[in-house]
Amino acid sequence: MMNQRYLVALDQGTTSSRAVLFTMEGQIIASSAYEFKQYYPQPGWVEHDPADILSTQIEALRSVLRQTGISPAEIAAIGITNQRETTILWDRQTGQPVYHAIVWQCRRTAPMVEQIEKDGASGLIREKTGLKPDAYFSATKIRWILDECGLQEKAENGDLCFGTVDSYLCWHLIQGHPHVTDATNASRTMLFNIRTQEWDDELLKLFRIPRALLPQVIDSAQYIGNLNPDILGTPIPVTAIAGDQHAALFGQACFEKGMVKNTYGTGCFMLMNIGNECQLSQHGLITTTAWRLNGVPTYALEGSVFIGGAAIQWLRDEMKLVQKAADSEGIAKDIDGNSGVYLVPAFTGLGAPYWDMYARGILVGLTRGTGAHHTVRAALESIAYQSADLLTAMASDYGSAPSALRVDGGASANRFLMQFQADIMNLQVQRPAVLETTALGAALLAGLGARLFSTLQETAAGWHIQDTFSPVMPEKERARLLRGWNRAIRTAEFWSSLAKEEEQEI
Ligand code: ADP
Repeated sequence: MMNQRYLVALDQGTTSSRAVLFTMEGQIIASSAYEFKQYYPQPGWVEHDPADILSTQIEALRSVLRQTGISPAEIAAIGITNQRETTILWDRQTGQPVYHAIVWQCRRTAPMVEQIEKDGASGLIREKTGLKPDAYFSATKIRWILDECGLQEKAENGDLCFGTVDSYLCWHLIQGHPHVTDATNASRTMLFNIRTQEWDDELLKLFRIPRALLPQVIDSAQYIGNLNPDILGTPIPVTAIAGDQHAALFGQACFEKGMVKNTYGTGCFMLMNIGNECQLSQHGLITTTAWRLNGVPTYALEGSVFIGGAAIQWLRDEMKLVQKAADSEGIAKDIDGNSGVYLVPAFTGLGAPYWDMYARGILVGLTRGTGAHHTVRAALESIAYQSADLLTAMASDYGSAPSALRVDGGASANRFLMQFQADIMNLQVQRPAVLETTALGAALLAGLGARLFSTLQETAAGWHIQDTFSPVMPEKERARLLRGWNRAIRTAEFWSSLAKEEEQEI
């Protein structure tokens, strides 16, 4: 036991598979990432080859050990975290997938979801799963594969397995082919009752999905089995699974109810720990299982901003206003204020708390003096305003505002953005030392699952905040900026309502 000093996170993401090696205190020793091919067979469709997912994940694991010279025998436990909702069906005998993985982003089953809504099943789904029916979630993807490949009978006979990516990895990486998933991943299928923490017969019937297809649902931290020795030569215990955003909430040590984290990536993902009672949102957010430990679920409210860091990519690639994303910080700081210029980056519609799929982006408040600086600043500010809107929705569902916001993700490196975020939310923003919170969460859960830690406090003993951003903006200024933002949002919604009206007239 004494020489087992490391924890490994397998972080299976949408564009790459990563392996990250941590000390028991949660410090990163090394990481390795392998990208894999994205398949776009039709507009709006996205697939992965499950064989690529598996091979890049194994390669990343081997590579991180090669890099460091650490022996597999020194690894105490492995945790898995993964892109959520992505759906794989495979043959129970051979392990061979029957179709490519249908990725969470894929819109192919949107018509199926519209039909479900027309049939009036939305309320039932929401009540049981905490989700707003959408093509993201696995249920309609499973239905599509069964229909497309004519596999209903085979599924009913128990000859097929369904799994999200965690499940597929466990089957292929662990001795004895366990067919499992954890409660966080199950919560994203639209088939799992988050209140009872069981697959739901009524939902299974609604989607005509046989129970025989489904994995056993386990805790987020528990012994699952040992890694196949042909991978590293040693049977290392695999002791945790959590969906990526859930792992990030854990990796931000948001263990108490009311704690919130926001990840600033291409989009932003905000999750709030709401404790052990399942609560539905009145403001367009979803409810999900944050994690399940010793059979006890902790719940979270979740909301996302579709265009977060992507607004900065847009400045760079389409508008050519910055050469690299990091330049946006200096440019935004160069001017005193936003001069009344607002960008609503509703390039793909507006998500929570607005939910307007027809909304499109607008840049408003322009004068003769408006230039590149204002546009760049407006783009950065828009990330903070959208996140603030999510936080306001969460706080009002939860009944009180959090005392701080914990941040991570690529754009959290931007000091202007973080200070503005603190100012506009009137809340302290805390940035931890380890920004790889998804991988860290999986590693810490693995430590917990291997009983190397006995309490959550012990689990996150090494976790600490590196930077804090405290609000300094006068209340009047904050209120003035938020009024401007609300006006901009209403303008974008007005534009979309006119477009809808015209469409109906034609
Ligand atoms: P993802 O995991 O979604 O690929 P990352 O966490 O890697 O995202 O973050 C990348 C995003 O962050 C990009 O959209 C990029 O434009 C943005 N970004 C990266 N660095 C900065 C920065 N210094 N300022 C603002 N945005 C940034």
